[in-house]
Amino acid sequence: MKHDYEYIVLGLGGFGSAAAYWLARRAGTEVLGLEQFELGHVRGESQDHSRIIRLSYHAPHYVELARHAYRAWAEVEREAKEQLVLRTGGLDLGPREGAIPLSNYSGSMDAAGVPYERLDAGEIMRRWPQWRLDDTIHGLFQAESGIAMAARGNAAHVRLAQAHGATLLERAPVDGVRPLEGEIEVLAGGVAYRCRRLIIAAGAWSNQALAPLGIRLPLRVTKEQVTYFASPRPDDFRLDRFPVWIWMDDPCFYGFPAFGEPGPKVGQDAGGQETTANTRTFDRDDAAFARVSAFLERRLPTALGPVIYTKTCLYTLTPDRDFVIDLIPGRPDVSVAIGGGHGYKFASLIGRILSDLAFDGRSARDLSHFRIDRAILQLLDPPRTYMV
Ligand SMILES: Cc1cc2nc3c(=O)[nH]c(=O)nc-3n(C[C@H](O)[C@H](O)[C@H](O)COP(=O)(O)OP(=O)(O)OC[C@H]3O[C@@H](n4cnc5c(N)ncnc54)[C@H](O)[C@@H]3O)c2cc1C
Repeated sequence: MKHDYEYIVLGLGGFGSAAAYWLARRAGTEVLGLEQFELGHVRGESQDHSRIIRLSYHAPHYVELARHAYRAWAEVEREAKEQLVLRTGGLDLGPREGAIPLSNYSGSMDAAGVPYERLDAGEIMRRWPQWRLDDTIHGLFQAESGIAMAARGNAAHVRLAQAHGATLLERAPVDGVRPLEGEIEVLAGGVAYRCRRLIIAAGAWSNQALAPLGIRLPLRVTKEQVTYFASPRPDDFRLDRFPVWIWMDDPCFYGFPAFGEPGPKVGQDAGGQETTANTRTFDRDDAAFARVSAFLERRLPTALGPVIYTKTCLYTLTPDRDFVIDLIPGRPDVSVAIGGGHGYKFASLIGRILSDLAFDGRSARDLSHFRIDRAILQLLDPPRTYMV
C-alpha cells in the first residue's frame, strides 16, 4: 500500500470528509484521509439527519460566507446527483429586549442585500399557529434558510472523494504527527505515512491533534443534545408547513420540522455541560431536556409529545464562537479548521477552503476573522461569549 501522499486529512467528520472531497477533485490518488473511528460514527459533531443552514447571521462576514456555503453544497449536489440542502425558510424570533439582538441579524442581511421579512407576534402566529407568543416577541423570516442534510452530506463527500481516487481509512487513529524538513510524518495505527501538506479537521480532538505542533487553544468541549418528539399533531410540523427556527434569547433554543424522523427536533444551543471528547457519555442531560420541554410547553405546545429519542453530540467552542480556519503560523504546510458549534452549514465550503489552503497556500474567501493567532485564542482563560 502507498504510504507517501501529497495530502493527508486528519479526521473525516463533517469538515474532513469535505476537505478530502475537494482535495481529491484536484489531486485524486494523492489524498489520504485518516479517521480514528468508523466513517459515519456518532462520537463527533456532524452526524445527524439535519443541521440548520441560513444566511441570517449576526455579522456580515458570516452572511457572505453562508452565500458561498450554499454554492459549495449546490456543486456537491450536482456531482452527487442528490439533494443535500432543503429550503424550509427560517424564523429567528424572540423577545424584543432579548439577549441576542435581532437587529444584528437584520443589519447584517441589509448590508449584504439579503431579503427577509420582519414579523410581529401576530403575523408569526397567523402564518404558524403552532406558536404561542405575546406582543413582546418579534421575528425575522428568511426564505433561503433550511436543512443541511448532515449525514447525507458527509456520505456524499466520502463517496465522491473515493470516486476521485482518495484513500479514506477508517479505524486509523492518528497518534503521532512529526513535522520534518519539507514533509510531515503521520503515524496512524502503527503505520507511518508521509505527506507534503497536512489538514487537521479533528473537531473536539483538535487540541490533541495540534499538540505535536506546539499549539494549544482555549477550546471548551461541551456535550449538547437534541430531541425528536412525536408531536400529537404531526401535520403541524410537516416540511412544507413549518420552518427551521431559532429562539434568540438566553437560553437559546432551536428546532426543525419533521425530517428524518416522524416528528420535530428541538435543542438548546450551548446548553450542555463541559466534557472532553474521550470522557463524554452518551446519556441524556435531564436538566437540559427539562429546559427544552418547558420552553415547548409554553411557546410551541403541539411540538411536545412522546420522546422519539434524544441524541447527544459535541460542540467544540472557541471563546468568541468564531471559527478557526487557517494555516499554522510558521508551518504553512499544515492547515486547520474548528467549527465553534455552528459550522456544519459551512462544511462543504470549509472543506473547499482547506483544500485551497493546502493547494495554493491561500483562499479566495476572507479568513481574517478566523485566524488561529487572534488575540482571544492566545489567552489561557479568555472571556467566553456564546450568545451571538
Ligand atoms: C447538537 C448539535 C447541533 C448543531 N447544530 C448545528 C446547526 O444547526 N447548524 C450548523 O451549522 N452547525 C451545527 N452544529 C455544529 C456542527 O455540527 C459542527 O460545527 C461541525 O459538525 C463540526 O465538524 P467537524 O468536522 O469539525 O467535527 P467532527 O464531525 O466531529 O469531525 C472530527 C473528526 O475527526 C476525527 N478525529 C479526531 N482526532 C483524530 C485522530 N487523532 N485520528 C483520526 N481521526 C481523528 C473524529 O473521530 C471525527 O470524526 C451542531 C452541533 C451539535 C453537536
